[in-house]
Amino acid sequence: MIKQKPSWLKMKQRDNQFSSTENYLASLHLHTVCQEAHCPNQNECFSHGTATFMILGKYCTRNCTFCAVLKRKHPFPLDPSEPENVAQAVEKLGLQHAVVTSVTRDDLEDGGANQFAETIQQIRQHSPSTTIEVLIPDFLGHHDSLDIIIQSKPEVVNHNIETLQKLYPKVRPEADYHRSLEVLSYIKKKSTLLTKSGFMVGLGETPEDIQKLMEDLVSAGCDILTIGQYLQPSLAHFPVYEYVPPSQFENYRKMALKIGFKHVESGPLVRSSYHAKESLGHVMEGR
Ligand code: SF4
Repeated sequence: MIKQKPSWLKMKQRDNQFSSTENYLASLHLHTVCQEAHCPNQNECFSHGTATFMILGKYCTRNCTFCAVLKRKHPFPLDPSEPENVAQAVEKLGLQHAVVTSVTRDDLEDGGANQFAETIQQIRQHSPSTTIEVLIPDFLGHHDSLDIIIQSKPEVVNHNIETLQKLYPKVRPEADYHRSLEVLSYIKKKSTLLTKSGFMVGLGETPEDIQKLMEDLVSAGCDILTIGQYLQPSLAHFPVYEYVPPSQFENYRKMALKIGFKHVESGPLVRSSYHAKESLGHVMEGR
């Protein structure tokens, strides 16, 4: 049974701008993680004419039990027009900060790193003043793929740790906690790019578990952190263990700043790209 949601998880209503953003993105055959991952902030973001683009198609080769994105072991080949279409949408929507994420494509030799690089390049050409944040998969830890991302110089490289190490076998069976930490530390060692990560709570963790997770991320060189409530997309997905109250999110925010993150977004409806532009601005000011 899906637990009854508390009042602090109520979503905003859609407005006319929502449909206009949705139709425009569909006309370019673009996918957004807002739609595919059932993001609770989708109504708010689409109504403000903003979105987080999801590239490399709409099917993921992995099977994380918390995630609503569609899965397929053998997805379709990449769409060569996808980078240009994302760049067109960024320009048309007038985004000052573009967030580009993807499904995981373990079937591709480079994991899709070159498609990320091409998308960044196209956005730079169409919208030179737009800052760019990529939320990347782990690329199986392959340094060649990570080097392609680093060389394409987005302002922020995000890689989500998602949950505690002890929950990986149940929640992210095909991922590896230490490999994800190594992705972040490799990027930090090889570049001056800002690094970011995020995790969900409400899957069955203690404050001590969360402290250890934050310490591991800071040791890996992670600059920015997002913390949000896990919401079960359907009965077939991993169950919600608890709805964490807003006051505990504030405790986690303070804990994270004390441990050493440069900026933290923590709240029930926070997702990876929540206040992404403001987070970048805040960290740049402090540099
Ligand atoms: S790898 Fe990412 S997109 Fe794929 S199922 Fe897991 S969380 Fe979802």
